[in-house]
Amino acid sequence: MVLGELGGSVVRALQKMSNSTIIDENVLNECLKEITRALLQADVQFKLVRDLQMNIKNIVNLDHLAPGHNKRNIIQQAIFNELCKMLDTGEPSFMPKKGKTSVVMFVGLQGSGKTTTCTKYALYHQKKGWKPALVCADTFRAGAFDQLKQNATKAKIPFYGSYVESDPVQIAVEGVDRFKKENRDLIIVDTSGRHKQEAALFEEMRQVSEATNPDLAIFVMDGSIGQAAYDQAQAFKQSVAIGAVILTKMDGHAKGGGALSAVAATKSPLTFIGTGEHMHEFEVFNVQSFVKRLIGMGDLSGFIDKIQEVEYQQPEHMLELLDGNFTLRMMYDLYLLKGPMGQALSLLPGLGAKLMRKGQEKESQAKIKQLDNTDPKLIKDSRIMRIARGSGRKVAEVMEMLNELNEYKQRAKILSQMKEVKNLKKGGMSSL
Ligand code: GDP
Repeated sequence: MVLGELGGSVVRALQKMSNSTIIDENVLNECLKEITRALLQADVQFKLVRDLQMNIKNIVNLDHLAPGHNKRNIIQQAIFNELCKMLDTGEPSFMPKKGKTSVVMFVGLQGSGKTTTCTKYALYHQKKGWKPALVCADTFRAGAFDQLKQNATKAKIPFYGSYVESDPVQIAVEGVDRFKKENRDLIIVDTSGRHKQEAALFEEMRQVSEATNPDLAIFVMDGSIGQAAYDQAQAFKQSVAIGAVILTKMDGHAKGGGALSAVAATKSPLTFIGTGEHMHEFEVFNVQSFVKRLIGMGDLSGFIDKIQEVEYQQPEHMLELLDGNFTLRMMYDLYLLKGPMGQALSLLPGLGAKLMRKGQEKESQAKIKQLDNTDPKLIKDSRIMRIARGSGRKVAEVMEMLNELNEYKQRAKILSQMKEVKNLKKGGMSSL
């Protein structure tokens, strides 16, 4: 889960509040204090955090609430609204359209994840029916073309580049022309980066932009830089007409919250986030879905979107899941947040929050490795003791894990009864 620590802390604070018998000013203050601390630790700017806290306190006036009002819901809703406000990055200015040629130029500093993100972006669209192509106009970094070529080949996406030509503008123009002739509808141009912002970088970006006339320039930024994203986004915005931002390395980086809020503060539309080194670790950014997951409300629309990839890549899990089954193998994938199923399930109400905590417990991954696909109901005491002995774990730990599996099984049953999931089943998998 993206921003695991922040999400985990926010969920814990809300949970603690929910567990209180009476919700009064003290309980609310305590909850807000914990959320504030978590946001500051995620490198969110002090002023933004203070505003958020004040706004929530102004909205939630516990003394004036008529009896019968659900205080927990009101507080949770206020926190949700304020976090959405804080992370609202504005509407994207341009979205490529399928079947109509669009040129998208990627810019950013070296090491930000630009080349990796170009292919992720291409693959994301290819999976949804676009015909993307990649052009490597990064002649500054040795090996950039090889990297793009390797990624593109793996993802079966056509690419263009040169080992001999050193003029990025020429390569960009040739590549774009070639793919226009081939009727590719999404031509992605990877440009050079530099170690830091400097005049030569901005000049080169400007030249490539003038020569290829892109429909959209996407600025790729390393999310682990936290608040510093504000100055970087402003500097790039002033040099090129940036239409969208992608934040990378949002997996497990403590400062991701700072980067998100900083991008939002520049009102640069954030369209995707990178959540890992692998090609599929890439998500559409939608502020409401994101905040829902962050505070443990689940994100059913994200789940339905993601489950399409489970069908494509892990069909065996898909069938089991829609039928309300849950196996140890699935739990293992889930702990590792591996593959699309782990990602899809993390979007479900209740599960996402639990996974955020689990993700931090590396040993839980090791624990589960000790078990096979047996139905836990059939695992007898003697077997539990054997597993515990064999894995060097306490019996209580093995039992706890089996209990957890039962909990997931119950959730899978509930999931299979949901209207949306029933519709998926009714429509047949092929309709996904
Ligand atoms: P470029 O110099 O901007 O083109 O950056 P690269 O695409 O070569 O990426 C730099 C490093 O960041 C590589 O090791 C990538 O695998 C890694 N990377 C890119 N995106 C992500 C991401 O979302 N998460 C993580 N953890 N690593 C990433």
